Amino acid sequence: MKYISEFRQQGLAQQLSKAIAQTVDPDRHYRLMEFCGGHTHAIFRYGVQDLMPDNVEFIHGPGCPVCVLPTGRIDNAIQLAERSEVILCTYADLMRVPATGRNSLLKAKAGGSDIRMIYSTQDALKIARENPDKQVVFFAIGFETTTPPTAVAIKQAQAEGLTNFSVFCNHVLTPAAMQAILDAPQPVAIDAFLGPSHVSTVIGSQPYEIFAERYAKPIVIAGFEPLDVMQSALMLIRQLNDGRHEVENEYSRAVTRQGNQKAQALVNEVFELRSQFEWRGLGLIPDSALKIKAGYADFDAEQRFNMPAIQASDVKGCECPAILRGAKKPQDCKLLGTVCTPENPMGSCMVSSEGACAAYWSYGRVRG
Ligand code: SF4
Repeated sequence: MKYISEFRQQGLAQQLSKAIAQTVDPDRHYRLMEFCGGHTHAIFRYGVQDLMPDNVEFIHGPGCPVCVLPTGRIDNAIQLAERSEVILCTYADLMRVPATGRNSLLKAKAGGSDIRMIYSTQDALKIARENPDKQVVFFAIGFETTTPPTAVAIKQAQAEGLTNFSVFCNHVLTPAAMQAILDAPQPVAIDAFLGPSHVSTVIGSQPYEIFAERYAKPIVIAGFEPLDVMQSALMLIRQLNDGRHEVENEYSRAVTRQGNQKAQALVNEVFELRSQFEWRGLGLIPDSALKIKAGYADFDAEQRFNMPAIQASDVKGCECPAILRGAKKPQDCKLLGTVCTPENPMGSCMVSSEGACAAYWSYGRVRG
């Protein structure tokens, strides 16, 4: 298949592996944070780590939208879904993320709440049209990649006069998370970043330039296929060897410097910055998430329903917060593969198809 099989060729992977081995300085350690969970899964699914020299380490980043959503927001969604007039619509991954008291959206659904798994915002609009006597709430999460479809849905609902539709907005911003990692009081040692791929198709590569300049960190926008990850690692290693810190774009088949300006304009029309937002693992980050603008307030579930801010704790022993900061790895968690498995997840990183713990478990890194 075009753009997939070409980027999974074994022979090219071996050539890249050889080139990386010849390029690394044996006297230094290279700590590369792959920002996205998609990168983490590519690394483990295709054995990319095994094709790297021992002194090239991948540090897993926070780029998994389900993983970074704090427990309190899931508690909010469950409370909404428990209202008799509400149909809550959301993407499947979120259903099994543990909430307070070992609850989850899946358990709430089993308990009688009307919660529906959808594949797109258009599904939520359809449910709203078909159920005019119900309040249909879309539980929106995700980075910049999934924000434009939410904006489209809100505009469409307004145009159609779909007054029983609203959005519980939890859209978050990638550059703010990168900044939080770099500005952390006890920052994790990171030499360079494999930059987001799908997010960058929307925002472009330009927003990362400030990090390359201000923090002297090389960044390479990297696609999600194994050869993308390997080529990007090679580009980062070359930058580090040369003492350069630039933004380079390996994923040039999809990403430009300016990004998708039409999508950006759409998002800017419907959303504005929240002054702060809580992230699992990273805490409260200023200007790191979006809320619905006043002109579309009728479609804002937080304004339509009484939704208190809920402070909730993670499951005791779950290391998701430290993993999302890059401070720990899944094998540092005592619950991995014992108490915590995909069938019985204790934390968000084991649930999501982009979670680091799910990657370790799925591709045999913890099962011998
Ligand atoms: S293995 Fe489970 S409990 Fe441990 S950090 Fe991952 S999700 Fe949390």
